[in-house]
Amino acid sequence: MIATVLPTYNRAPLTFVRGEGSWLIEADGRRFLDLGAGIAVNALGHAHPALVDVLHKQAQNLWHVSNLYQIPQQQALADALVEHSFADTVFFTNSGTEAAELAIKMVRKYWHEHGQERVTILTFEAAFHGRSTGAIAASGSEKMTKGFGPLMPGFKVLPWDDHKALEAALDETVAAVLIETVQGEGGIRPLSEAQLKWLRAACERTGALLVLDEVQCGMGRTGKLFAHEWAGVDPDIMMVAKGIGGGFPLGAVLATEKAAAGMVAGTHGSTYGGNPLACAVGLKVMEIIADPVFLADVSRKAGLLRQKLEGLVAAHPDTFEEVRGSGLMLGLKCRKPNTDLVTAARDAGLLVVPAADNVIRLLPALNIPDEDLAEAATRLDQAASSLEST
Ligand code: PLP
Repeated sequence: MIATVLPTYNRAPLTFVRGEGSWLIEADGRRFLDLGAGIAVNALGHAHPALVDVLHKQAQNLWHVSNLYQIPQQQALADALVEHSFADTVFFTNSGTEAAELAIKMVRKYWHEHGQERVTILTFEAAFHGRSTGAIAASGSEKMTKGFGPLMPGFKVLPWDDHKALEAALDETVAAVLIETVQGEGGIRPLSEAQLKWLRAACERTGALLVLDEVQCGMGRTGKLFAHEWAGVDPDIMMVAKGIGGGFPLGAVLATEKAAAGMVAGTHGSTYGGNPLACAVGLKVMEIIADPVFLADVSRKAGLLRQKLEGLVAAHPDTFEEVRGSGLMLGLKCRKPNTDLVTAARDAGLLVVPAADNVIRLLPALNIPDEDLAEAATRLDQAASSLEST
């Protein structure tokens, strides 16, 4: 008999009942150090007092009003995002997938408004933009698309990090390039600054729009508010989600005025997108994360963690191959099956997340205390040793 919850997830046998900072407490009382943070969602850890407070206050006043009316919390969050980014305008969603859908629509509308038949969006192998019909077509991956055809047309999937293929494909017929600034699910693979600069220039030359997916790598995770800032170039459209709500469902599409010009009243909408609860929380998250002092500390913590992970690679050369990633979005490429490491880490009281390319992901809360980072390294060391002794 089918499970009453549609069985699309492989769940670990763990039931968490409480969260405190970077720790999750299981129903049986065991404490787990959480270096997954809901897959880069709990950017400020669990039960951050300022977020609990703002959510509580907003919940007592007003949960939901339709986008038929003014929503001051939404306006304030849009203003903050515009102030701190390349964008001129923002649309709020409830998830990264919904943000991807709008980004695709915005590209299509842009070219429609320009009276040109430019529909091809270049995307990349191992990309992940969500599980909607549009997002799986964008990824092109057999694993996600099998059985769900016919796929939405309009995407051309290129190999990752293949400059020649990109150079050959990116011409005046292309509508946009859609790319994660740091690939997450694909195995923590950052786009180099040089590649991103080249892409920006090539998009300028051909007129194609540059769409960055910063759902996983944005909101302070790399030590800048948005990962593309490291390269000093801006996209035309950007998707964010995950960390922006600190655990409350919230996503957004940020765009320049030029890219968004066709999105007039009636072209897009959402019942829940930009609701007062989500935006009140998002505004507090922005206030904390956009602070340069906070971001500098993310980079400092990232340096600490990276150093410890490099030490682990040196100490366990048969288990780990290399450290990759940016800021507090780090991956350990494994020589043993990554799922074995996830299980061994769990047995050592540490939560990490698998990714493609046999990688385990470390995506701690951005405010994780230094001692928890040291503890995480100790537990990963235990996990690796336990696999080596079997
Ligand atoms: N884009 C990226 C880069 C992601 O990592 C994810 C989720 O993992 C998504 C989009 C989809 O976001 P959501 O699961 O919130 O729909």
